[in-house]
Amino acid sequence: MDVQPSFPASSPALSPAGTEAASPVRHVHGACPHDCPDTCALRVSVQNGVALRVQADPEHERTLGALCTKVSRYTERTYHPERLLYPMKRVGPKGSGQFQRISWDEALDTVAARLKEIAARQPQAILPYSYAGTMGLLQGEGMAARVFHKLGASLLERTICASAGGAALAATYGGKVGMQVQFFPESKLILIWGSNPITSSVHFWTLAQQAKRAGAKLWCIDPRRTDSADKCHRHLALRPGTDGALALALMGELIRQDALDHDYIRRHVSGFEKIREQALAWTPERAAEVCGVEAGLIRELAHDYATVKPAAIRLNYGMQRVRGGGNAVRLIALLPCLTGAWRHRAGGLLLSASGWAAQARNDAALQRPDLLAGRRPRVINMSTIGQDLLREASPDFGPKVEAVVVYNSNPLAVAPQSAQVAAGFQREDLFTVVLEQFMTDTADHADIVLPATTQLEHLDVHTSYGHTDVLLNEPAIAPLGEARPNTEIFRLIAARLGLDDACFKDDDETLARTALKNIDFDALRARGWARLPVPDAPFAEGGFPTADGKAVVDAPGLGVPDFVPNYESVQASPELAARYPLAMISPPARHFLNSTFVNVKSLRDVEGEPALEITPDDAMARGVVDGSLVRVFNDRGEITLRARVSTRSRPGVVVGLGIWWRKLAPDGRNVNELTHQRLTDMGNAPSFYDCLVEVRPA
Ligand code: SF4
Repeated sequence: MDVQPSFPASSPALSPAGTEAASPVRHVHGACPHDCPDTCALRVSVQNGVALRVQADPEHERTLGALCTKVSRYTERTYHPERLLYPMKRVGPKGSGQFQRISWDEALDTVAARLKEIAARQPQAILPYSYAGTMGLLQGEGMAARVFHKLGASLLERTICASAGGAALAATYGGKVGMQVQFFPESKLILIWGSNPITSSVHFWTLAQQAKRAGAKLWCIDPRRTDSADKCHRHLALRPGTDGALALALMGELIRQDALDHDYIRRHVSGFEKIREQALAWTPERAAEVCGVEAGLIRELAHDYATVKPAAIRLNYGMQRVRGGGNAVRLIALLPCLTGAWRHRAGGLLLSASGWAAQARNDAALQRPDLLAGRRPRVINMSTIGQDLLREASPDFGPKVEAVVVYNSNPLAVAPQSAQVAAGFQREDLFTVVLEQFMTDTADHADIVLPATTQLEHLDVHTSYGHTDVLLNEPAIAPLGEARPNTEIFRLIAARLGLDDACFKDDDETLARTALKNIDFDALRARGWARLPVPDAPFAEGGFPTADGKAVVDAPGLGVPDFVPNYESVQASPELAARYPLAMISPPARHFLNSTFVNVKSLRDVEGEPALEITPDDAMARGVVDGSLVRVFNDRGEITLRARVSTRSRPGVVVGLGIWWRKLAPDGRNVNELTHQRLTDMGNAPSFYDCLVEVRPA
């Protein structure tokens, strides 16, 4: 990049607070925008137009008075010396990172001219690409969706994180609903399943610790001995992708021990008899064989789940990133229905609470799907972007993708099988626009880069998938440089495209008021957050949001859930497993959040360098020593990582903590070089943790 961003005079880098006549410090309500269930309320301290600190809003109970390390340093991110502050156009080969500053007029004219020309011929050749770089409703799809709907662009199926589990909850409970997080301290047994909350949901972890201090027993179910697992009473380190087998064995034990709540099942579960025989066929021994754990440990877990009440399950999305992820979530979601754990507000299951937010969100009014005016554009799955960018036009696929507009996402780093993703974005005939705060791997491949504001610089409203509050984020400071909110950028593009519906002129406050329903917006603005009216024990008397109010075993079109082995496993692909005997999972590194924060040096320094955890036995068998460089490879590619020989991983499993930016890794690649684009059994999600590899000394 040949542009050196410079900072406005208000930057702390140029005028440290206190060196000029100080105006009083004011505090601004904010909301953490990141893809994290905790959705913290922020209190931003501002003086002389400079954000001094980002702290927890002490009034917001769910934030528990503290932010995580990453967001505590949010000012470091906003005032980062590498912030994108001006529009730029590419002046070198795609991916080279050679850009030149241009004016907003030139940038918008270029974008609009190209999109207009394509839209006139074949609007579906235009593809939006976005995810949860911000969870804000406005800066997410607020104005963007209106523009793409009006154009008739391809629709994006946003599957990359949670859609297998979401589809499973919908099939079982009728929606993404569950326990309320604030009641976990009253639980006496907590199963932390597929989750490392110290890294990915630190506020839940605080509540789990409160429960532990009050006498609760904590189990961690995770292939990796995480920091969280270290602090639980028991750890069941199963093979990746075998959670469904474990759930069936637990169900079988509940039936054998007659630890069922027959009254709850009779009144609030439909189809239990259809899974009864199947569950009984899963003895602890059978599941132990599949999961690679001791049968006695499964018995102990089943005994605890049958006898200790109230029992709560905090499920997270890691375990559903495998071929059978949807089935596994359906099986686990049935467990509290069989024991009647839902009767108590501290019992049940929480994977996502986002379904509760439907009562406050007015997505149709915000995103305006009616602007499609009866057109039904094809749908492209974000998880197969690698192969889809390389596809030619065909009757099956539709037109070749000619333009991609990326916002709130970094597909070069986060999408599976990145060699294909990179090849797609390197197509010279692909017009790529990237709205970004930083020069990411994806921005390096853009034709036009448009500088976007950070959370401190724009208005937004947020719902949560970990609690049931709605939050407001006020702009605390003016946009840095020439950065603009996504909403504003899409408004300007709409104007250049000649889209003249009144909705394209809505300002951000109008969008914010439109995005919400059943919420007193002025009260939200005054307090910073509002609480949704969700019952303490929502399913104590059934009332699931299904057709008949019952939890569902035999779902229409899906049948009864069952264990589905990984695509890449001894059971499903023995020849592949012989060549690549190690299963690789790639959970988030503690100081990164997906690919966000990797460029914040203080956080990257803590993580060190891209590394691979491998057990001493697996390392010794391959001549790998701790601290050495190793090649990690399969048929899709190869990466070089620093070996960390430890018992964090379990035998036969290696862990590549993610998600590093490719260009910040010494070999210019990351773990997604090795992952594939096959989709889960439900929800069309990627199966990142269903991945076999081999390791050799580099
Ligand atoms: S990333 Fe999560 S824990 Fe950290 S501040 Fe944001 S919502 Fe809170």
